Amino acid sequence: MGRQNKQKMKKCYKKSIWPSALLFIIFLGSCVGLVILFVTAFQGFLIDEKIADIQEDAANLGRMIEFRMQKNNLSDAVSSLEEYMQEENDVCITDENYQILRSFRNHVPDFKRVENITIFESYRVVPELDPTQANGEQKLLITYRELLKRSLNALEHSNFEDPRWLEEPLFHTNYWVEVPIRLPGYRLYYRDSVTIFQKNVFYMNVAILVELLLLAIPTLLLFMNVVSSVAMQKRMVHLLYQDPVTGGKNWSYFLERSKKILCQLWNTKHTYAIVNLHMIRYQDYCACYGSKEGEELLKKIDGFLKISIGRGETFARFAKADFGLLLRCASPQQCEKRLKKMLVELTGVKKDKMMSFCAGIYLLRPAANWKRMQRRQIDIDQIYHFASAARGTMRGKEGEYIKIFDQQILQEQIWKNKVEETMEAALLNEEFQLYLQPKYHPVTEKIVGAEALVRWISPTDGMIPPNRFIPIFEENGFITKLDDYMILAVAKLQSEWKIQGRRQVPISVNISRVNFVKEDLAEHICHLVDSYGADHAAIELELTESAFFGNKDLLQKILKELKMYGFHISMDDFGAGYSSLNSLKDLPIDVLKLDMDFFRGDGAKQRGEIVVKETIRLAKALHMKIVAEGIERKEQVEFLAEQGCDMIQGFYFAKPMPIEEFNERVEREL
Ligand code: C2E
Ligand code: MG
Ligand code: MG
Repeated sequence: MGRQNKQKMKKCYKKSIWPSALLFIIFLGSCVGLVILFVTAFQGFLIDEKIADIQEDAANLGRMIEFRMQKNNLSDAVSSLEEYMQEENDVCITDENYQILRSFRNHVPDFKRVENITIFESYRVVPELDPTQANGEQKLLITYRELLKRSLNALEHSNFEDPRWLEEPLFHTNYWVEVPIRLPGYRLYYRDSVTIFQKNVFYMNVAILVELLLLAIPTLLLFMNVVSSVAMQKRMVHLLYQDPVTGGKNWSYFLERSKKILCQLWNTKHTYAIVNLHMIRYQDYCACYGSKEGEELLKKIDGFLKISIGRGETFARFAKADFGLLLRCASPQQCEKRLKKMLVELTGVKKDKMMSFCAGIYLLRPAANWKRMQRRQIDIDQIYHFASAARGTMRGKEGEYIKIFDQQILQEQIWKNKVEETMEAALLNEEFQLYLQPKYHPVTEKIVGAEALVRWISPTDGMIPPNRFIPIFEENGFITKLDDYMILAVAKLQSEWKIQGRRQVPISVNISRVNFVKEDLAEHICHLVDSYGADHAAIELELTESAFFGNKDLLQKILKELKMYGFHISMDDFGAGYSSLNSLKDLPIDVLKLDMDFFRGDGAKQRGEIVVKETIRLAKALHMKIVAEGIERKEQVEFLAEQGCDMIQGFYFAKPMPIEEFNERVEREL
């Protein structure tokens, strides 16, 4: 992740805690406030709005009457009450059966009635009968809704210029409270009333409005905070999963998303394909058009894949111009077909620019017995590398652009890993051995040279032929170390022959094209050979044709220097793949080695002979020596002798052999 992204993420983290915490506190406070308000509001509208007063009054009254009645008789107590109540006359005394013994009121409720009795705390409250009401009923309680209705009704007829509208009563009720007295046989009732005015409702409404407003602000802020948190989280996820080059998704995203898809969506109907999509020669594209244009191209590819990928599928850039894809198809054939179409379409993402793509596929076939647990254990990264290994096996083969991973590739992959794990140790343990294949003169049939060929004698796998490890070394770069090792081995042998007074047979050493990026290659080789004091003229350096396709100027410079140091240069496998006749013209080549394919297959024998004949003529005209490789039959030797071929290397004369065996052969000729 870039520094900028890291800073952005830090900001996101810092921002998110405090506003939320503060808002939470405000919100909590408002909620508590609202609860208190509503509780008080609704309590206020109950008839026992002044319940505390009622209780206090009742208790005082009770104590007083008890005190009086203990000493005097009932009438004394009542007169004391009258005194106490003065003009209010709001007291009533009954016997234990609710029979009124003494009352100062005409309309006394029937205290026996149970249904109209409300109990507040331990106080029985009985509504007074309203003689003006048809059924004589009186309400003891009123709901807030009813109050609001009454308030609105009243407002309709109010004159707001007159401040008295606030004093308008909306609800009035009289009630009797039973005063608890500890006098057996007597009950004491005390009358009170409650009136709710327009102002009560008005102030209450204002309070509720203010509280709602107070609640709405933090709610709104909280909501905005939630929205911004979600946006921030999205931004963080975006930063975390963003590919810095394409701006699309990165590899971590691909791994996670693919796993999710396979765990959740994979059913028995679909085949999933993990694909390694690779642009061929991206490096060359960048070299041609510049790295900026290269990045532009990667963005275009990303854009193209975005459109091509459907739901339940995903993709991301892995590295350089390699993309990982998870495709869902009805069958393996459909996967291949779809990918083929994609590869063709991809070549057109940048008009008037030449490019080509290839892909390796790993198929995950539908399996009814795939359990979710098993799916979770799928290692997407490894599977992608299997797909990549499948793609790698094509190694630019003509007309082949898609390769499906199979068991053979797996074996190759395992082998490749093994080779890579053991190669360094093998070099130190001198498991790589120098074999020599003699080159013979076709007429004298005497040894005139030899080619140094490596053999890996492994303590576990026995003798490993070069085609099992050289391509791997060329891919991972280890070949340069092996080539140095072989040059040293040949130089050592040459100097030994010199010291021992033996014949110094010229030996050619294969130099992989991977080496031809080093500016100081000639100097380096010279240094290696000189470390044993071997004659430069006795050493020939073989380059395969593919080496001639790289940086031509550098190659020309290196070859010229090598020539200057006195080494001979040969072009190996001439005629295999794409021959560059131009190279013959421009480069200082001493020897041309005809590829063994010239001498394979009988079908076009005559035509093959013409090509060989003319190539030999061309080489001679350019003052080059000719070596024919892979000669296995006598008539081939005779034909080549006739054409003036200088050397023959092939099983007809000898196979590559250890040094001792080669020495014996040379001695036998003397
Ligand atoms: P190359 O340089 O073209 O070597 C010639 C190959 O042809 C050798 O295979 C040799 O054994 C084989 N050969 C020679 N005569 C005949 C014949 O009559 N019939 C058949 N069927 N084959 C014949 P080898 O030793 O397996 O080497 C294969 C390739 O591995 C070499 O091709 C060379 O490209 C590479 N290689 C071998 N040793 C080294 C090395 O030390 N360094 C580098 N860079 N490459 C090496
Ligand atoms: Mg060779
Ligand atoms: Mg060859």
